[in-house]
Amino acid sequence: MLKVKIFTLYPESFPGPLNIGLYKKAMEKKLWSLEVINIRDYANDKHKTVDDTPFGGGNGMLMRPDVLSKALDKNINFDENNENIYLSPRGKKLEQSTAKNLSKEKNINIICGHFEGVDQRVLETRGVKELSVGDYVLSGGETASYVLLDSILRLIPGVLGNNLSSVVESFENDLLEYPQYTKPQKWEEKAVPEVLLSGDHAKIKGWRLTQSEAIARVLRPDWWNKYKKN
Ligand code: SAH
Repeated sequence: MLKVKIFTLYPESFPGPLNIGLYKKAMEKKLWSLEVINIRDYANDKHKTVDDTPFGGGNGMLMRPDVLSKALDKNINFDENNENIYLSPRGKKLEQSTAKNLSKEKNINIICGHFEGVDQRVLETRGVKELSVGDYVLSGGETASYVLLDSILRLIPGVLGNNLSSVVESFENDLLEYPQYTKPQKWEEKAVPEVLLSGDHAKIKGWRLTQSEAIARVLRPDWWNKYKKN
């Protein structure tokens, strides 16, 4: 079972958009668990202060190392294998391969930052890796954590009803997904491509591959180049 612990100042953000049938069922089946830790509970003073001004000056506030480390130390068993992740715009960019590797882990601990971020020393002393969901700045790590968890959870065997649906997908063959169609067969004068109605599976497979290649070539040259090399 994958045990997820989220460290946040906004515990009410969870399970948020992860509160969907698929993941609820997976939780009931004990494929994963979610524990939400309110960092503020570990503040030292009666005002529950979690942040302070940066040494050296500058705008904004930083999360204090003493408060955050206390939250981590009281909730993580450091004798076990843990992936400790701080969501941060300067981290390594999340990719399908990252999600795949993380879906094999047993303990994932996620720190959601706020303000200007967190004191560097906590990251260093507690073996925390930085992970980014893309080259843009969010106001907090919570939304990024939904993205991260959604990308991981669906790869855990048994979570998706049809295991195949996570295999034939964008990025899995260094390609992007081909166009798909459902009923009605004719809609707003637009018909579904003839080949898909042919019942000829080899032909359909060939058409889908050609489409995937064309899409990758035009929309994602980076993936197209990777695909061509393999
Ligand atoms: N001053 C920081 C940004 C802080 S944004 C900097 O320039 O690096 C506030 C919080 O939002 C961060 O602590 C982080 O947890 C989260 N966050 C913002 N952008 C993110 C991104 N692209 N990926 C992951 N987390 C992000």
